[in-house]
Amino acid sequence: MKFLIINSGSSSIKYQVIEMETETVLAVGLVERIGEEVGRLKSTFFPGTKAEAESVIEQPIPDHSSGMRLVIAGLTDKDKGVIGDTSEILAIGHRVVHGGEDFHSSTMITKEVMDAIQRNIPLAPLHNSANLDGIRVAMEIFPKVPQVAVFDTAFHQTMPPHAFMYALPYSLYEKDRVRRYGFHGTSHRFVAGECAFLLNKPLAECNLITIHLGNGCSMTAIENGRSVDTSLGMTPLEGLVMGTRSGDLDPAVHLFLQQNKGWDLETIDALLNKESGLKGLCGLNDMRDIHKAIESGDARAALALDVQTYRNRKYIGAYMAVLGRIDGIVFTAGIGENDAIVRAKSLKGLEAFGVRLDSAKNSQRCLGARCISSQDSTVQVFVIPTNEELAIAREVAGVVRG
Ligand code: ADP
Repeated sequence: MKFLIINSGSSSIKYQVIEMETETVLAVGLVERIGEEVGRLKSTFFPGTKAEAESVIEQPIPDHSSGMRLVIAGLTDKDKGVIGDTSEILAIGHRVVHGGEDFHSSTMITKEVMDAIQRNIPLAPLHNSANLDGIRVAMEIFPKVPQVAVFDTAFHQTMPPHAFMYALPYSLYEKDRVRRYGFHGTSHRFVAGECAFLLNKPLAECNLITIHLGNGCSMTAIENGRSVDTSLGMTPLEGLVMGTRSGDLDPAVHLFLQQNKGWDLETIDALLNKESGLKGLCGLNDMRDIHKAIESGDARAALALDVQTYRNRKYIGAYMAVLGRIDGIVFTAGIGENDAIVRAKSLKGLEAFGVRLDSAKNSQRCLGARCISSQDSTVQVFVIPTNEELAIAREVAGVVRG
């Protein structure tokens, strides 16, 4: 049973083909620069007994439809391909960024579902319209194959109003749907499920804090398996300090910048999303580069690390207060999975709350899921690799099976 997983961006399509019986990735690839003079498709095929093969194609790719057709041509290629023909794809999963309040779970795509994704475009203008492009193209190429939408926001739809409401005039919620939605839901849900497995407890009985630290960063408080609060907000800008995004700041900073620098709102929005966070503080947004800079005495890089990990610690403390009892804290994504220093600094001072790291286990480099807390820690701490595509594929399997 093979599934195709698609993450369609405004000028890109990421894809994977997954064999579901064994949860094996058969092919992974990225179409980039759609609509530019020269587009690019890079694919890696894992065709079982044949040797792993890589393929790079550079040619004009005018739109998503031609990009997708190029992907299919590669997948069905006689030499390198991993499927005989398109009929081997039994279901397609689409990552959709914003489901607004319409979607509490993954869902089979129908005309009504597409209309609802369209209605939510104002909440995520670039992402949702690109996701819709991907859906339309896949429906055109695979008209008979079930297609499932998996929303970044859906897992957080269980947040209670006291967590999702902003303290703004209520009409802005009623009329314009201004509220916290949260993102990275597929990742938080996936690592929560893996953590419950490691704790040997049903997810519905687990209280967890899941911390996704990649380019984008977010933290979620999970009570009895359900998201009850999360740090990203109406857009993916709020909360933790990210690679290039500021996270929390006084909303009056906007007004100050407008009045004192004469910047318009688009300029300020770009500044907060693309020039802030770690990059804003020290000029570097990759944590590996930041560590190298710290080693060579860069004080700004050290400050950036301090600001990010202090914010992490503040949120962990807040979510401990939200949850009361905690079974596990989980670190995931690029930084969370690989960076022992960030993990240790984020948990510094939490010993009084029963959180104790085993520094040898924390420093060990290892790819799999693992516990890094000491025997006497009352809260277990885990590193659990996230796998968004597999998480989407499992969601698709759930929806297709009904
Ligand atoms: P995305 O949010 O784009 O999916 P990832 O989860 O892959 O990103 O995280 C990417 C970030 O992870 C990089 O920018 C880098 O800061 C960080 N990262 C990746 N590998 C390491 C590593 N070995 N040590 C520290 N940080 C790392």
